[in-house]
Amino acid sequence: MSQRRDVDVVVIGARCAGAAHARLLAEAGVSTLVVDRCEEGSDTLSSHTLTRGAVKQLDRWDLLPRLVASGTPGISRSVFQFGETTIPLDLRPVRSGPGMVAPRRSKLDAMLGTAAREAGAELRYRTSFRDTIRDDAGRVRGVRLASPEGWEYSVRADFVVGADGLRSPLARNVGARETTITEAFHSHLYGYFVLPDQRDNLFAFAPGLSIGLTPTDGGVTTVIVSGSPARLRAEISEKGAEGAILSLASEIDADLGARLRAAQMSERARLFAGHATIRRQSSGPGWALIGDAGQFRDPVTAHGITDAFRDAEHLALHLLESGFDAAGYERERNPVSDPIFALTAEMTRYDRPLTELSAQFVRLSQLMRDEQAWMEERFGASALAA
Ligand SMILES: Cc1cc2nc3c(=O)[nH]c(=O)nc-3n(C[C@H](O)[C@H](O)[C@H](O)COP(=O)(O)OP(=O)(O)OC[C@H]3O[C@@H](n4cnc5c(N)ncnc54)[C@H](O)[C@@H]3O)c2cc1C
Repeated sequence: MSQRRDVDVVVIGARCAGAAHARLLAEAGVSTLVVDRCEEGSDTLSSHTLTRGAVKQLDRWDLLPRLVASGTPGISRSVFQFGETTIPLDLRPVRSGPGMVAPRRSKLDAMLGTAAREAGAELRYRTSFRDTIRDDAGRVRGVRLASPEGWEYSVRADFVVGADGLRSPLARNVGARETTITEAFHSHLYGYFVLPDQRDNLFAFAPGLSIGLTPTDGGVTTVIVSGSPARLRAEISEKGAEGAILSLASEIDADLGARLRAAQMSERARLFAGHATIRRQSSGPGWALIGDAGQFRDPVTAHGITDAFRDAEHLALHLLESGFDAAGYERERNPVSDPIFALTAEMTRYDRPLTELSAQFVRLSQLMRDEQAWMEERFGASALAA
């Protein structure tokens, strides 16, 4: 590492990827500054579902009990409804808690930030990344930041990590190459319903449409209606966002629609219009990208947080092993994430027959097991393991 620096690593973005990464680096004795332009504890749109890989990471990091103690309900069953066929799946608990949780992001991301701070990382919210500082050879050696009051200052570092999300300003700044895997995407419409007796995760499918019910914090269930952008846009412009959720829910399953009509909505509905599946060059001299900054997939497989947690630990390990040289990180990441990434891209088609769709979910669960096995092998014996 260079001698002239303020910190070893600057991480841009303090959510799933950035806060988790910073905690692991700080625990390993690396001086780490994390910045985020958001307020601490702010929300971001999500279906909130942590698939098993993410739950296992929280378990290994000893954070799952903290989440459950704060009131996030454990989910022990996922039910899939493909037309007339219903497939219930029991979700085995992990070592320290339930097999699935779906916390609000305001809570999850804040908890990860607190854990990073406890490990010794410094967190600065309402602080924006503006530019990189480079040395004569062009290697990134720090960042220019803007304080909450708007004044700019420099922080010299040996390494800069972009955990700054889909639109990653760091990726833009360093000119990371971007590849579009598929232009196709779903739109997702979110409503929050007071349904205290909803305990299972439920997914119901009809041709071209799906609905998910996921119990989150505070006795509230997140209801997600997904379909083609044109279909959702048309429905919203005719009925409004809340009306669209209710009418599309009834179209998928009349009983479910009636149940939602009788329930109270706890906040306004929100639309994620969708985004193409992309992958970016994720490392270069003095910098690397993790989480959505490095690759973004449609939320249809609810796998982004698992990716973020996997990348957070993978890059931390890689940097410690390599003496802060990111070369090779991406080469190791891609074969692990490729299979689920490619399947997610396939699953963004809306014209799939329901039989094909159910086979895709079976395949997804096998691929998730393979990914978990990789994580256990790669991270299990590391000094970073909880
Ligand atoms: C609608 C929707 C639903 C989803 N549902 C699920 C789900 O159910 N399960 C799941 O696993 N995944 C889901 N995902 C994916 C998941 O949300 C992402 O994969 C995850 O948030 C990625 O985490 P991240 O830390 O990489 O990025 P983000 O969560 O996007 O965080 C990036 C952070 O960087 C900060 N930042 C950006 N620019 C700057 C800057 N210039 N200076 C300082 N800070 C900056 C932002 O303020 C932000 O806080 C969903 C995604 C969407 C869009």
